[in-house]
Formats: sequence, C-alpha cells, structure tokens
Amino acid sequence: MKKVTILGSTGSIGRQALDVIHAHPETFTLYGLSAHSSEEAFCGQLLAEKPHRAVFSLPLPAVPGVELAFGEEALLDLAGDPAADVVVLAISGIAALRPLLAALKAGKRVAIANKESLVCGGDLVKIALSKGAGELLPVDSEQSALFQCLQNGRRQEVEKLILTASGGPFFKIKREELRDITPEQALRHPTWSMGRKITLDSATLMNKGLEVMEAARLFDFEGEQIDVLIHPQSIVHSMVAYRDGTVMANLSRADMRLPIQYAMTWPDRIPSPARKLNLWEQPELQFYRPDMERFLALRMAYDCLKAGGGYPVVYNGANERAAELFFAGELSFLGIEDSVSYALEKYTNRPMDSLEAILETDALSRRLVDEFASTRSFV
Ligand code: NAD
Ligand code: MG
Repeated sequence: MKKVTILGSTGSIGRQALDVIHAHPETFTLYGLSAHSSEEAFCGQLLAEKPHRAVFSLPLPAVPGVELAFGEEALLDLAGDPAADVVVLAISGIAALRPLLAALKAGKRVAIANKESLVCGGDLVKIALSKGAGELLPVDSEQSALFQCLQNGRRQEVEKLILTASGGPFFKIKREELRDITPEQALRHPTWSMGRKITLDSATLMNKGLEVMEAARLFDFEGEQIDVLIHPQSIVHSMVAYRDGTVMANLSRADMRLPIQYAMTWPDRIPSPARKLNLWEQPELQFYRPDMERFLALRMAYDCLKAGGGYPVVYNGANERAAELFFAGELSFLGIEDSVSYALEKYTNRPMDSLEAILETDALSRRLVDEFASTRSFV
C-alpha cells in the first residue's frame, strides 16, 4: 500500500490525483492534503477523504480525525513527512519550489506536475536529488511521455527530445489578430481541461517554453537537443528520436490521470480509469513546425535556457505576474509576451545558487512587469 500526499489538492491535477487513488483502493491510501484557496472545496475534501494530515494557508474549523495545520511552515513539514511514500506536487507556480525541496530532502518520491519549480529551482533541485534518496517522476504529460520513451535506449543514443504542443486555441491566427484576445477566449483550450494559469500559458505558448526548460532540467539535455512540434490533437504526447533514425512516441487519449498514475506506480504499470485510445476513432493526426518568429514565447525560452543563471527565473516570474495582470484586465494578451521580453531585457544575470537568489529574482521580475504595465496604457 502506497501512502500518498497531494499538495494542491483542490486544483485540476490535485482532483485527478484523488481520482487515481479512488480507482485503486488496494494500491493507494491517502495520507495528506494541502490547498491554498477554495476553502469550501478543501473542507469538502477533508470531510469526504479524511486524510491523516491536512494543511491550508489560513486557519480552518477543526475536522474530526484530521490533523489540521496552517501556513507555509506546516506545508513544508507535510511535504517532508516521513510517513508518506509519494508526494504529488500539484501546486501551481513558483510557490511549489520550497515544498519540492523539502520533499526531496526528506527522500520522497515526488510525482511532479508543477513545472515552474523545476524551471526556477535548477541547481538546487539537482543538489537535493544528488544528496538524498528523493526521486522525481514527471506528471506533466509531455515529460511523462519523454520519460517513458527514454526507457527504450541509452542516453548517448538519443538525438532529440521532441516535445509536442497543441498550439493552444490560436496557433493558426496571425499575430496582429491576437491583440484583442480576452481572458474568456484564452481559457478555451481545444484538447485539455486544466487550471486557469496553465490554460493561458498554453494559449501564449509560455507553457511550451516552460516545458522546454523543464525537459532540460529533468533529463539533463541542452536546448539544441530539444525540439517542439505542434500537434493539435494531443494524442502523441512527445517523442524521442534516436541516432539510428528510430522515433519512439507515447500515445494515449488526453487524460492527465494516466501520467499522474504512472508517476505514482513506476516502474509498475497498472490498469487506469482513463478511456482507452482507439486510433481509428481519432481525427487525423497532424504535425506542424512552430514558427519561431511568430511564437516569441518559445524563442525567449530557448534563449533563457542557453543564458542560464536567473534568466529562466525571470521568464517564469514575469509570466506569472503578466498572467495575473491579464486576468485582472490590466494587460493585453500580447502584453504578456511583451512584458516578459521587457523583464528579460532589463535583467542583469547573476548565479542562482541559493533559494534567496531565486526568490529575489522572482520578485524583481514581477516588479519589472508591473513597471512595463504601468507605462503602457491598455483598454
Ligand atoms: P490549479 O490552479 O487548478 O490548482 C493549483 C493548486 O495549488 C490548488 O489546490 C491551489 O490551492 C494550490 N496553490 C495555489 N497557490 C498556492 C500557494 N501559493 N501555496 C500552496 N498551494 C497553492 O492548477 P493545475 O492546473 O492543477 O496545475 C498545477 C501544476 O501542474 C501547475 O504547475 C501546472 O503547470 C502543472 N500541470 C498541470 C496540468 C493540468 O492538466 N492541469 C498538466 C501539466 C502540468
Ligand atoms: Mg504539458
């Protein structure tokens, strides 16, 4: 029986992780839950699931049988709790970085959905992994696909990692026409149903930019060895091209419960609640090369990966802040890209050798986006 803690349990990934646990009562038992907002939904989960431990950002009324605590220190304590076997990291944004480091230091298996912490955490995550018994198992569908395809060969035999991208709802629309996109339009994702921020990131392609850096961190490859391929149907989740010309691909229906479950059970594969893929029922699978001039978000991600240091942190922090401003109606859709580009231009690189350096750089990038937004009039 594996004891599972879900950090970010009220979110899209968190709720699907609970589904996976419910589907396999003989394999998994729930140990801990945490959330940041959605008090009502979280209280509902506590009553229904009765975890041993739970952490919320603010005080909540007691729930019989649940050891309830509040705030970030309690969250870090839960992340590193020796009683749990697997920690599903489903918190969104850079807020997941400290819990990730706490879980790895405690030697946990971390089923990691959160990509912002990997993009920003770089060397700190590497050090935490090399020092202890902790392990990272990717949940992000593209990274899970790469992880699975990489099991078919040796590292030095790999020529390219090929990340697929749905392209979001606007990939065929001309750049000029993106100016007036509203949050409502940006939240209509063609193939995946996800949290608000990642759905927006998919429309701006910032998500794919983050995933290029995430893949580099997880599998230790340079940007030159990572390609992006637009695949609007989201059936092929990513591929690995080997040096003999063989390409291994990972296919399934777009259902996050598959990669969530695999990260929890690896190296075992067990039946899943997801519907099976019948290729004859699928629309034609299409693939396009992304236009790097059109998708500035992708080009900036490759540049940040190459430049290293704090650039990936600025890319992420500026994008997180720009997303908040876009949802608040204070920044246009293209303003997201433009403000990230502005923050990167203003930034002077420095090494990210401590958590403080990372958090300072994150804060700086947010201030730069605010500066950008205050100097442009929008609406
Ligand atoms: P979401 O917004 O639906 O849920 C986020 C969860 O994190 C919620 O439970 C929230 O309470 C918690 N949270 C938010 N801010 C927090 C903070 N400051 N401290 C502690 N907890 C906090 O997000 P999601 O779509 O489930 O995505 C979660 C992560 O997984 C993101 O990093 C995203 O990029 C990644 N991811 C998601 C999907 C998907 O299908 N949704 C796919 C791949 C990767
Ligand atoms: Mg993904």
